[in-house]
Amino acid sequence: MSSATLSIDLTALIANWRALDAMTACETGAVVKADAYGLGIDRVARALADAGVRHFFVALTREGVALRKAVGPGLRISVLSGHMAGDSGLIRAHDLTPMLNSVDQMLRHVENLAGAPFGIQLDTGMNRLGMEPGEWAALRDVAVGQNPVLVTSHLACGDEPDHPMNRQQLSVFNEMTNGLDVPLSLSATAGILLGKDYHFSLTRPGIGLYGGAPFSDARPVVSLDLPVIQIRDLAPGETVGYGNTWTAKRPTRIATLGAGYADGLIRAMGTTAQVYAEGTACPVVGRVSMDLITADVTDLAAEPAHLSILCPEQDVDTLAGAAGTIGYEILTSLGPRYARMYRE
Ligand SMILES: *Cc1c(COP(=O)(O)O)cnc(C)c1O
Repeated sequence: MSSATLSIDLTALIANWRALDAMTACETGAVVKADAYGLGIDRVARALADAGVRHFFVALTREGVALRKAVGPGLRISVLSGHMAGDSGLIRAHDLTPMLNSVDQMLRHVENLAGAPFGIQLDTGMNRLGMEPGEWAALRDVAVGQNPVLVTSHLACGDEPDHPMNRQQLSVFNEMTNGLDVPLSLSATAGILLGKDYHFSLTRPGIGLYGGAPFSDARPVVSLDLPVIQIRDLAPGETVGYGNTWTAKRPTRIATLGAGYADGLIRAMGTTAQVYAEGTACPVVGRVSMDLITADVTDLAAEPAHLSILCPEQDVDTLAGAAGTIGYEILTSLGPRYARMYRE
Protein backbone atom coordinates (compact mmCIF):
# COMPACT_ATOMS: atom_id res chain seq x y z
CA MET A 1 0.00 0.00 0.00
CA SER A 2 1.77 3.14 -1.17
CA SER A 3 -0.87 5.72 -0.38
CA ALA A 4 -3.14 6.14 2.56
CA THR A 5 -6.36 4.19 2.04
CA LEU A 6 -9.85 5.25 2.99
CA SER A 7 -12.12 2.20 3.09
CA ILE A 8 -15.84 2.76 2.80
CA ASP A 9 -18.15 -0.04 3.83
CA LEU A 10 -21.20 0.32 1.58
CA THR A 11 -22.91 -2.60 3.30
CA ALA A 12 -22.72 -0.74 6.61
CA LEU A 13 -23.94 2.45 4.90
CA ILE A 14 -27.01 0.62 3.60
CA ALA A 15 -27.59 -1.02 6.98
CA ASN A 16 -27.55 2.45 8.58
CA TRP A 17 -30.04 3.78 6.04
CA ARG A 18 -32.33 0.80 6.64
CA ALA A 19 -32.05 1.17 10.43
CA LEU A 20 -33.01 4.86 10.23
CA ASP A 21 -35.81 4.01 7.81
CA ALA A 22 -37.14 1.38 10.23
CA MET A 23 -37.47 4.03 12.97
CA THR A 24 -40.20 5.86 11.07
CA ALA A 25 -43.38 5.06 9.19
CA CYS A 26 -42.55 7.62 6.49
CA GLU A 27 -40.21 7.83 3.50
CA THR A 28 -36.46 8.13 4.20
CA GLY A 29 -34.33 10.23 1.86
CA ALA A 30 -30.56 10.65 1.93
CA VAL A 31 -28.34 13.72 2.18
CA VAL A 32 -25.23 13.40 0.02
CA LYS A 33 -23.95 16.98 0.00
CA ALA A 34 -20.20 17.69 0.16
CA ASP A 35 -19.35 14.60 -1.90
CA ALA A 36 -21.43 12.37 0.39
CA TYR A 37 -19.73 13.79 3.48
CA GLY A 38 -16.32 13.21 1.91
CA LEU A 39 -16.88 9.54 1.03
CA GLY A 40 -17.51 9.89 -2.71
CA ILE A 41 -20.95 10.78 -4.08
CA ASP A 42 -20.86 8.38 -7.07
CA ARG A 43 -20.50 5.12 -5.23
CA VAL A 44 -22.37 6.19 -2.12
CA ALA A 45 -25.41 7.49 -4.01
CA ARG A 46 -25.56 4.52 -6.37
CA ALA A 47 -25.48 2.12 -3.41
CA LEU A 48 -28.25 4.08 -1.67
CA ALA A 49 -30.36 4.21 -4.83
CA ASP A 50 -29.98 0.43 -5.24
CA ALA A 51 -31.15 0.04 -1.63
CA GLY A 52 -34.31 2.04 -2.33
CA VAL A 53 -33.56 5.74 -1.76
CA ARG A 54 -35.81 7.79 -4.04
CA HIS A 55 -35.09 11.30 -2.79
CA PHE A 56 -31.58 12.75 -2.47
CA PHE A 57 -30.51 16.13 -1.11
CA VAL A 58 -27.42 18.13 -2.03
CA ALA A 59 -26.35 21.65 -1.04
CA LEU A 60 -25.41 23.04 -4.45
CA THR A 61 -26.71 22.85 -8.00
CA ARG A 62 -23.25 21.68 -9.12
CA GLU A 63 -23.46 18.76 -6.68
CA GLY A 64 -26.88 17.94 -8.10
CA VAL A 65 -25.43 17.77 -11.60
CA ALA A 66 -22.72 15.31 -10.46
CA LEU A 67 -25.33 13.26 -8.64
CA ARG A 68 -27.67 13.10 -11.65
CA LYS A 69 -24.78 11.75 -13.72
CA ALA A 70 -24.16 9.08 -11.05
CA VAL A 71 -27.73 7.88 -10.50
CA GLY A 72 -29.41 8.62 -13.84
CA PRO A 73 -32.98 9.83 -14.38
CA GLY A 74 -36.05 9.18 -12.29
CA LEU A 75 -34.89 9.84 -8.72
CA ARG A 76 -35.57 13.19 -7.11
CA ILE A 77 -32.56 15.40 -6.39
CA SER A 78 -33.35 18.42 -4.22
CA VAL A 79 -30.94 21.34 -3.91
CA LEU A 80 -30.92 22.93 -0.45
CA SER A 81 -29.45 26.28 -1.50
CA GLY A 82 -32.47 26.68 -3.76
CA HIS A 83 -32.68 28.38 -7.13
CA MET A 84 -29.54 30.54 -7.35
CA ALA A 85 -29.00 33.17 -10.04
CA GLY A 86 -27.41 31.64 -13.12
CA ASP A 87 -28.41 28.07 -12.27
CA SER A 88 -31.71 27.81 -14.18
CA GLY A 89 -30.18 26.05 -17.20
CA LEU A 90 -28.50 23.37 -15.08
CA ILE A 91 -31.59 22.89 -12.94
CA ARG A 92 -33.66 22.25 -16.05
CA ALA A 93 -31.10 20.18 -17.94
CA HIS A 94 -30.48 17.82 -15.01
CA ASP A 95 -34.02 17.73 -13.61
CA LEU A 96 -33.07 19.15 -10.20
CA THR A 97 -35.61 20.30 -7.62
CA PRO A 98 -34.54 23.56 -5.96
CA MET A 99 -35.72 24.10 -2.38
CA LEU A 100 -36.78 27.75 -2.61
CA ASN A 101 -35.64 29.83 0.37
CA SER A 102 -37.03 33.32 -0.32
CA VAL A 103 -39.50 35.36 -2.34
CA ASP A 104 -36.63 36.25 -4.70
CA GLN A 105 -35.91 32.59 -5.38
CA MET A 106 -39.63 31.94 -5.88
CA LEU A 107 -39.84 34.72 -8.48
CA ARG A 108 -36.70 33.49 -10.22
CA HIS A 109 -38.11 29.98 -10.41
CA VAL A 110 -41.51 31.03 -11.74
CA GLU A 111 -39.96 33.41 -14.29
CA ASN A 112 -37.29 31.03 -15.58
CA LEU A 113 -38.70 27.56 -15.06
CA ALA A 114 -42.47 27.87 -14.75
CA GLY A 115 -44.02 24.46 -14.15
CA ALA A 116 -40.71 22.81 -13.18
CA PRO A 117 -40.70 21.04 -9.80
CA PHE A 118 -39.62 22.88 -6.66
CA GLY A 119 -39.82 22.59 -2.90
CA ILE A 120 -39.90 25.23 -0.18
CA GLN A 121 -37.75 25.61 2.92
CA LEU A 122 -39.24 27.41 5.90
CA ASP A 123 -37.22 29.04 8.66
CA THR A 124 -38.73 27.96 11.97
CA GLY A 125 -36.16 29.71 14.18
CA MET A 126 -32.66 28.66 13.12
CA ASN A 127 -32.27 31.88 11.14
CA ARG A 128 -30.10 30.34 8.49
CA LEU A 129 -32.06 29.25 5.43
CA GLY A 130 -35.69 29.40 4.37
CA MET A 131 -38.72 31.67 4.33
CA GLU A 132 -39.62 33.42 7.57
CA PRO A 133 -43.16 33.19 8.97
CA GLY A 134 -44.13 36.70 7.79
CA GLU A 135 -42.75 36.20 4.29
CA TRP A 136 -44.43 32.81 4.08
CA ALA A 137 -47.80 34.15 5.22
CA ALA A 138 -47.76 36.63 2.33
CA LEU A 139 -46.58 34.10 -0.25
CA ARG A 140 -48.21 30.89 0.91
CA ASP A 141 -51.32 30.83 -1.28
CA VAL A 142 -49.43 31.78 -4.43
CA ALA A 143 -46.63 29.31 -3.71
CA VAL A 144 -49.02 26.45 -2.96
CA GLY A 145 -50.87 27.24 -6.19
CA GLN A 146 -47.64 26.39 -8.03
CA ASN A 147 -47.67 22.86 -6.53
CA PRO A 148 -44.50 22.51 -4.44
CA VAL A 149 -43.39 18.88 -4.16
CA LEU A 150 -42.14 19.25 -0.57
CA VAL A 151 -42.12 21.79 2.27
CA THR A 152 -39.29 21.48 4.81
CA SER A 153 -37.58 23.07 7.78
CA HIS A 154 -34.46 22.20 9.77
CA LEU A 155 -33.83 21.81 13.52
CA ALA A 156 -31.12 23.87 15.19
CA CYS A 157 -30.73 21.72 18.34
CA GLY A 158 -31.91 18.27 17.26
CA ASP A 159 -28.84 16.59 18.75
CA GLU A 160 -29.91 17.81 22.23
CA PRO A 161 -33.18 15.88 22.73
CA ASP A 162 -34.25 17.89 25.79
CA HIS A 163 -33.58 21.29 24.27
CA PRO A 164 -36.78 23.38 24.29
CA MET A 165 -35.91 24.66 20.80
CA ASN A 166 -37.03 21.31 19.34
CA ARG A 167 -40.63 21.61 20.57
CA GLN A 168 -40.61 25.30 19.69
CA GLN A 169 -39.57 24.66 16.08
CA LEU A 170 -41.99 21.75 15.79
CA SER A 171 -44.84 23.98 16.82
CA VAL A 172 -43.82 26.80 14.44
CA PHE A 173 -43.52 24.25 11.60
CA ASN A 174 -46.97 22.86 12.40
CA GLU A 175 -48.44 26.37 12.41
CA MET A 176 -46.78 27.38 9.16
CA THR A 177 -47.90 24.21 7.36
CA ASN A 178 -51.35 23.94 8.92
CA GLY A 179 -53.91 22.80 6.35
CA LEU A 180 -51.37 22.26 3.55
CA ASP A 181 -51.84 19.21 1.35
CA VAL A 182 -48.14 18.91 0.50
CA PRO A 183 -45.52 16.38 1.73
CA LEU A 184 -43.60 17.78 4.72
CA SER A 185 -40.11 17.17 6.13
CA LEU A 186 -38.51 18.48 9.33
CA SER A 187 -35.92 15.94 10.43
CA ALA A 188 -32.29 15.18 9.64
CA THR A 189 -30.59 12.32 11.54
CA ALA A 190 -31.11 13.87 14.97
CA GLY A 191 -34.78 14.60 14.39
CA ILE A 192 -35.48 10.97 13.49
CA LEU A 193 -34.35 10.04 17.00
CA LEU A 194 -36.75 12.59 18.57
CA GLY A 195 -39.80 10.46 17.76
CA LYS A 196 -42.76 10.38 15.48
CA ASP A 197 -44.00 13.95 15.99
CA TYR A 198 -40.90 14.98 14.08
CA HIS A 199 -41.14 12.54 11.17
CA PHE A 200 -43.86 13.93 8.85
CA SER A 201 -43.75 12.57 5.25
CA LEU A 202 -40.01 12.31 4.68
CA THR A 203 -36.79 12.37 6.71
CA ARG A 204 -33.41 13.64 5.49
CA PRO A 205 -30.58 11.78 7.26
CA GLY A 206 -26.97 12.54 6.43
CA ILE A 207 -24.42 11.88 9.18
CA GLY A 208 -26.23 8.82 10.53
CA LEU A 209 -25.78 7.06 7.19
CA TYR A 210 -22.04 7.62 7.43
CA GLY A 211 -21.74 6.22 10.93
CA GLY A 212 -21.64 9.42 12.96
CA ALA A 213 -23.24 10.77 16.16
CA PRO A 214 -25.96 11.34 17.21
CA PHE A 215 -27.05 7.98 15.69
CA SER A 216 -25.24 5.94 18.33
CA ASP A 217 -26.36 2.59 16.92
CA ALA A 218 -24.80 3.34 13.53
CA ARG A 219 -22.43 0.81 12.08
CA PRO A 220 -19.02 2.33 11.33
CA VAL A 221 -18.67 3.04 7.61
CA VAL A 222 -15.18 4.48 7.32
CA SER A 223 -11.73 3.17 8.14
CA LEU A 224 -8.47 4.89 7.31
CA ASP A 225 -5.07 3.20 7.06
CA LEU A 226 -1.85 5.16 6.78
CA PRO A 227 1.32 3.67 5.29
CA VAL A 228 4.51 3.75 7.34
CA ILE A 229 7.09 5.59 5.24
CA GLN A 230 10.02 5.35 7.65
CA ILE A 231 10.89 4.10 11.12
CA ARG A 232 13.74 5.51 13.25
CA ASP A 233 15.15 5.04 16.73
CA LEU A 234 15.59 8.01 19.04
CA ALA A 235 17.78 8.38 22.12
CA PRO A 236 16.27 10.03 25.22
CA GLY A 237 16.33 13.82 24.78
CA GLU A 238 15.85 13.81 21.00
CA THR A 239 12.84 15.68 19.64
CA VAL A 240 10.28 15.03 16.89
CA GLY A 241 8.79 17.34 14.27
CA TYR A 242 8.21 21.07 13.80
CA GLY A 243 8.78 23.24 16.85
CA ASN A 244 10.46 20.39 18.80
CA THR A 245 7.20 19.96 20.66
CA TRP A 246 7.82 16.34 21.70
CA THR A 247 10.90 14.97 23.42
CA ALA A 248 11.76 11.28 23.84
CA LYS A 249 11.96 10.31 27.52
CA ARG A 250 13.18 6.78 26.82
CA PRO A 251 14.77 5.01 23.85
CA THR A 252 11.93 5.45 21.37
CA ARG A 253 10.92 4.09 17.99
CA ILE A 254 9.11 6.62 15.81
CA ALA A 255 7.06 5.76 12.71
CA THR A 256 6.44 8.44 10.09
CA LEU A 257 3.05 8.01 8.39
CA GLY A 258 1.93 9.22 4.98
CA ALA A 259 -0.97 11.62 5.61
CA GLY A 260 -1.25 15.00 7.31
CA TYR A 261 -3.39 18.06 7.69
CA ALA A 262 -3.72 18.44 3.91
CA ASP A 263 -5.61 15.13 4.14
CA GLY A 264 -7.95 16.28 6.86
CA LEU A 265 -5.86 15.01 9.79
CA ILE A 266 -6.19 18.44 11.30
CA ARG A 267 -3.37 19.82 13.45
CA ALA A 268 -5.62 20.19 16.47
CA MET A 269 -5.86 16.40 16.87
CA GLY A 270 -2.09 16.26 17.37
CA THR A 271 -1.42 15.30 20.95
CA THR A 272 -4.61 13.41 21.77
CA ALA A 273 -5.17 11.16 18.77
CA GLN A 274 -3.85 7.61 18.54
CA VAL A 275 -3.02 5.36 15.66
CA TYR A 276 -3.64 1.63 15.90
CA ALA A 277 -1.67 -1.45 14.92
CA GLU A 278 -4.18 -4.33 14.81
CA GLY A 279 -5.95 -2.89 17.84
CA THR A 280 -2.89 -1.72 19.81
CA ALA A 281 -2.83 2.04 20.44
CA CYS A 282 0.25 4.10 19.58
CA PRO A 283 0.23 7.81 20.51
CA VAL A 284 0.62 10.43 17.81
CA VAL A 285 3.61 12.53 18.91
CA GLY A 286 4.96 15.87 17.67
CA ARG A 287 3.06 18.22 15.41
CA VAL A 288 0.90 17.06 12.55
CA SER A 289 2.50 18.38 9.36
CA MET A 290 1.02 18.85 5.90
CA ASP A 291 1.69 15.36 4.52
CA LEU A 292 2.94 13.43 7.54
CA ILE A 293 2.26 12.48 11.11
CA THR A 294 4.58 10.75 13.56
CA ALA A 295 3.70 8.10 16.11
CA ASP A 296 5.48 6.37 18.99
CA VAL A 297 5.57 2.65 18.08
CA THR A 298 8.16 1.62 20.68
CA ASP A 299 5.81 -0.82 22.41
CA LEU A 300 4.85 -2.78 19.30
CA ALA A 301 6.38 -6.24 18.95
CA ALA A 302 6.96 -5.86 15.21
CA GLU A 303 7.54 -2.99 12.80
CA PRO A 304 4.16 -2.08 11.31
CA ALA A 305 3.71 -1.56 7.54
CA HIS A 306 0.70 0.63 8.18
CA LEU A 307 -1.31 2.05 11.08
CA SER A 308 -4.99 2.90 11.31
CA ILE A 309 -6.34 6.25 12.42
CA LEU A 310 -10.03 5.47 11.83
CA CYS A 311 -10.86 1.95 13.00
CA PRO A 312 -13.17 0.19 15.46
CA GLU A 313 -11.04 1.43 18.38
CA GLN A 314 -11.15 5.07 17.21
CA ASP A 315 -14.23 6.05 15.24
CA VAL A 316 -14.99 9.34 13.53
CA ASP A 317 -16.49 10.85 16.66
CA THR A 318 -13.58 9.79 18.89
CA LEU A 319 -11.09 11.31 16.48
CA ALA A 320 -13.25 14.43 16.27
CA GLY A 321 -13.18 14.64 20.06
CA ALA A 322 -9.37 14.55 20.02
CA ALA A 323 -9.41 17.54 17.67
CA GLY A 324 -12.13 19.48 19.51
CA THR A 325 -14.54 19.21 16.59
CA ILE A 326 -17.44 17.08 15.33
CA GLY A 327 -17.55 13.96 13.16
CA TYR A 328 -19.07 15.94 10.30
CA GLU A 329 -15.96 18.11 10.04
CA ILE A 330 -13.58 15.14 10.17
CA LEU A 331 -15.44 13.33 7.37
CA THR A 332 -15.85 16.34 5.09
CA SER A 333 -12.17 17.30 5.56
CA LEU A 334 -10.77 13.94 4.45
CA GLY A 335 -9.64 15.31 1.11
CA PRO A 336 -8.84 13.95 -2.34
CA ARG A 337 -5.45 12.28 -1.81
CA TYR A 338 -6.63 9.00 -0.32
CA ALA A 339 -7.16 5.90 -2.37
CA ARG A 340 -10.86 5.26 -1.75
CA MET A 341 -11.76 1.57 -1.53
CA TYR A 342 -15.40 0.53 -1.48
CA ARG A 343 -16.51 -2.70 0.17
CA GLU A 344 -19.94 -4.12 -0.71
C1 LIG B 1 -27.05 18.72 6.16
C2 LIG B 1 -28.53 18.74 6.23
C3 LIG B 1 -29.24 17.57 6.55
C4 LIG B 1 -28.57 16.30 7.02
O1 LIG B 1 -28.18 16.50 8.37
P1 LIG B 1 -27.48 15.34 9.25
O2 LIG B 1 -27.35 15.99 10.59
O3 LIG B 1 -26.16 15.08 8.61
O4 LIG B 1 -28.37 14.18 9.24
C5 LIG B 1 -30.62 17.61 6.44
N1 LIG B 1 -31.28 18.75 6.11
C6 LIG B 1 -30.62 19.91 5.85
C7 LIG B 1 -31.39 21.12 5.50
C8 LIG B 1 -29.23 19.95 5.93
O5 LIG B 1 -28.58 21.09 5.69
